[in-house]
Amino acid sequence: MEKTLVIIKPSGVERALIGEVISRIEKKGMIIAGMKMMQLDEAICREHYAHLVDRPFFSLIVESMTACPVIVLCVKGLDVVRVFREMTGVTNGRNAQPGTLRGDFCMSGQQNIVHASDSVENAEIEIKRFFKPEEIFDYKPCYFKFLYAEDEI
Ligand code: ADP
Repeated sequence: MEKTLVIIKPSGVERALIGEVISRIEKKGMIIAGMKMMQLDEAICREHYAHLVDRPFFSLIVESMTACPVIVLCVKGLDVVRVFREMTGVTNGRNAQPGTLRGDFCMSGQQNIVHASDSVENAEIEIKRFFKPEEIFDYKPCYFKFLYAEDEI
């Protein structure tokens, strides 16, 4: 089953939104396959945001992403990469739709609460970046048969 990487950024941790984000993941019926708190440093920010290192605001990204520990989650479900991106909303919280995490909980283009992988290919790379293989758990919750119809899985 597909997996995605979610990071509750320092803007989410400092604003006490850890429970809110995890609660939405659980209530949607996504399965948490891995979860931990970690302190990011500049090196991992450079790797994770390699597509933005040449942008003038990159130092602000490093500053905001290293401001306190983050929560990283590996989340599992059918089409989970696309579905969680939609639950996240567009990059700038001021433009994000109400009902999305960014639309409901932030007013910024940078301090935007969560990271969500943007493609299945990147999700695989990002999960390996943040988790050791033994930190991902392939258990099946007891309520699994109520998450999907048999012909969906
Ligand atoms: P997303 O997080 O929506 O996938 P990007 O990959 O484009 O968006 O950007 C990664 C992160 O870099 C954003 O979530 C945001 O925190 C920060 N960022 C992106 N664009 C800007 C910008 N113009 N100014 C400040 N920070 C930005």
